Amino acid sequence: MSILKVSRLGHPVLRMQSQGVTKEALSSPAIQTLIDNMIETMIEYSGVGVAAPQVHYSLTIAVIESHGPRGDIPLTVLVNPDVTVLDEELLEDWEGCLSIPDLRGRVPRWGKLRVDGLDRHGDRLEFTAEGFAARVVQHEFDHLMGKVYLDRMRDYKTLTHVSEFQRYWLPEQTPSPSGRG
Ligand SMILES: [Zn+2]
Repeated sequence: MSILKVSRLGHPVLRMQSQGVTKEALSSPAIQTLIDNMIETMIEYSGVGVAAPQVHYSLTIAVIESHGPRGDIPLTVLVNPDVTVLDEELLEDWEGCLSIPDLRGRVPRWGKLRVDGLDRHGDRLEFTAEGFAARVVQHEFDHLMGKVYLDRMRDYKTLTHVSEFQRYWLPEQTPSPSGRG
């Protein structure tokens, strides 16, 4: 397996509508290797998801996985995904993106959705995602549509570099050496 170069904001591939993948193409060694490499790349950069455009392939494939305080998401390969909103309430929370390094921002996302698509073997994949998992799915689904999280922010007042995020936005979780409350 290989760690792939991640495309950064400004690369046209991040703004393109990705192409669907046929079952025949999906079964090819080239696409199966791409999926393995996307997983490897996600792990290498401590991401919770990678979409194919983020590794310079304009294909509707994304991988997601999380084992952290925000929620557990089993390793899932999404091929040709479609989402149906089950709860239209928008919840705002922090997001970052491997393609937009060193920034965080608060992004409104739907709280619950159904995901339909194929798994890496071409079998039908269907599941319901809530909360953080729903957020990650929407973030990756957006990449397949040529969108990034900045497009979804209500305003940019919360857009912050990571060090400032830790210093000013999460004070209760980062006690300072001076003992500031
Ligand atoms: Zn992203």
